[in-house]
Amino acid sequence: VDASLAPYTTEHGEVKGVVIVLHDITAIRRLEKIRSDFVANVSHELKTPITSIKGFAETLLDGAIDDPDISKQFLEIIYNESDRFHRLINDILDLSQIEQKKLPLRIERVDIFKLIEDIVQSLQEKMNRKELVYERPIDDTPIYMEGDCDRLRQIIINLIDNAISYTAEKGRITVEVEELSDQVVLKVRDNGIGIPHADRDRIFERFYRVDKGRSRNSGGTGLGLAIVKHLVESHHGTIRIESEEGQGSVFILQFPKAQPHN
Ligand code: ADP
Repeated sequence: VDASLAPYTTEHGEVKGVVIVLHDITAIRRLEKIRSDFVANVSHELKTPITSIKGFAETLLDGAIDDPDISKQFLEIIYNESDRFHRLINDILDLSQIEQKKLPLRIERVDIFKLIEDIVQSLQEKMNRKELVYERPIDDTPIYMEGDCDRLRQIIINLIDNAISYTAEKGRITVEVEELSDQVVLKVRDNGIGIPHADRDRIFERFYRVDKGRSRNSGGTGLGLAIVKHLVESHHGTIRIESEEGQGSVFILQFPKAQPHN
């Protein structure tokens, strides 16, 4: 609480009492804390890849460059860390634009099956590397919904990309789409490591990971699900998780078929 005091006087200057104004600043302090935590997290996240890039580049310059095997290995690390750095910057910029509502949606009619098929094709190589199987829906009658195609793509890519990262080799990933009278339900399912109950709400927070090491090794930025949640909500949709540790996870998204016009 923030308090300020002022004497209350009569017209002759005689003090009759005190006026105390109390301001509840809990919400302001909380926002300030969220903001400063975010800045601290961003700085830390950016520092990690840069420290690694600098370290490996220095070791190469100090002589490791003469060994072709070591050079290749170090250059691969430098490349992967720069790649993660690049994705981190893009995710931070995206998130800040989304949160400031500076990303207007371009609403159009989207063939959701076709979109999923495009995305799966773009991620096929990554799936092949882990020998993951993608199961196509048996009935692929087109299902349409209104939304911003690029943003819906970003939502689904993030979820399938996570399914790939958090599922062991030879695992299975499916995307199911169901059409209800006024809603489209999308389920991204994997039979991977699952998400502990206690972490289920928190994984939508910026930079929250169940296992930091695992996320970093798979090139994660820790921002994917925060972006997904914002984008789902900007489409007036909802997202929830069903998961069994060690068995797998399902991310369930519900969108209105038509976006409200205003
Ligand atoms: P990251 O870049 O770390 O993957 P995300 O915001 O996309 O960041 O996800 C946050 C965390 O949620 C991940 O670090 C991981 O611990 C957990 N997670 C996300 N998707 C899955 C999944 N399909 N299976 C298991 N854990 C997941």
